[in-house]
Amino acid sequence: MNILVINCGSSSLKYQLINSDTEDVLAKGLCERIGIDGSLLTHKTSDGEKIKIENPMPNHTVAIKLVIDALTDANYGVIKSLEEINAVGHRVVHGGERFASSVIIDDEVMKAIEECNDLAPLHNPANLIGINACKEIMPNVPMVAVFDTAFHQTMPEKAYLYGLPYEYYEKYKVRRYGFHGTSHDYVSQRAAAMLNKKREDLKIIVCHLGNGASVSAVDHGKCVDTSMGLTPLEGLIMGTRSGDMDPAICEFICQKEGITPAEMNNILNKKSGVYGMSGISSDFRDVEDGAAKGQPRAVAAMDAFYYRAAKYVGSYVAAMNGVDVIAFTAGVGENSKEGRDEICKYLGYLGTEIDAEKNNVRGEERIVSKEGSKVTLMAIPTNEELAIARQTLELVK
Ligand code: AMP
Repeated sequence: MNILVINCGSSSLKYQLINSDTEDVLAKGLCERIGIDGSLLTHKTSDGEKIKIENPMPNHTVAIKLVIDALTDANYGVIKSLEEINAVGHRVVHGGERFASSVIIDDEVMKAIEECNDLAPLHNPANLIGINACKEIMPNVPMVAVFDTAFHQTMPEKAYLYGLPYEYYEKYKVRRYGFHGTSHDYVSQRAAAMLNKKREDLKIIVCHLGNGASVSAVDHGKCVDTSMGLTPLEGLIMGTRSGDMDPAICEFICQKEGITPAEMNNILNKKSGVYGMSGISSDFRDVEDGAAKGQPRAVAAMDAFYYRAAKYVGSYVAAMNGVDVIAFTAGVGENSKEGRDEICKYLGYLGTEIDAEKNNVRGEERIVSKEGSKVTLMAIPTNEELAIARQTLELVK
């Protein structure tokens, strides 16, 4: 079966065509600047061929049509016709309290996703546009929604309620939801598989450390806490997001700078994190380079990033009353041996022992702790697209 995985943003659309029997990626690509001048489709085939198609994309329907054209192209296409796409899996950012797992998309599901728009105004409307565009072009192909929030729906009330008047939860559903759920789910499953154990028998902490970053506590197969909250702003210091801070800072800065709450929100999401702290870049490699050269603000940003991540790990050890595995994933977690090393420096009290040689790894699944380490440390590349394809297959087969 061929499954098209779609991750749709307001002006961009990422896709992968995955053969679910072999789990091979047949082709993948990115449409950029949809609805803006200079639209571009970059299409990559499995043998590494890269095709750039500059074509106006006034809307997402045109973008999807171009993707299908690329997938079926006589020269570099990987399928003969649209009929060879058997199902579509859509990444949907916010499923609110309604969705604790993936679902086949029907009219009722579309309505429920729309009802979550308030909670993710930048993402859910774009996800819906992507679904509608696919439905228009492939009306008879089954579609599945895979939610970033779903895996975290098992959190207990004590983990998801904020210390706010309860009416805000009742009226507006203000609570912790958590994000990157597809990644936390996939990586915790892989961690258990690497130990030849069931996830239900383990306490796992997943550190998803990329441009967006979050930590989760997976206790015997269920997520019991995660660092992102109502929105992806809470928790770790990220590429451009502040993560946790005293909420009173917002009003303080708004008054001092004469800016609105919306402008403040923008600063917290787009101008903060290691970017705002270092003044160098939102890209962790650039900030790490700056720190290696001794630039004080880059050093401060990276130190704060690692320290915050280690504090979350510590708090999740408390949440689960122990930990068997700490797994590092996403851009920094998968690739940066320094990153894993710096965070693990704080975790010696748990009996963790990182193995310098094994930890010298990039983008590969590997146990990076010493043989006798009390907690197993792992580097595990995440694969959200494959996880979406698997969940789609599960529902449509
Ligand atoms: P993601 O959001 O998961 O794609 O992660 C992107 C981030 O990972 C970027 O900020 C990259 O700089 C960072 N990254 C990728 N490779 C490395 C590496 N070897 N060392 C440190 N950071 C890295």
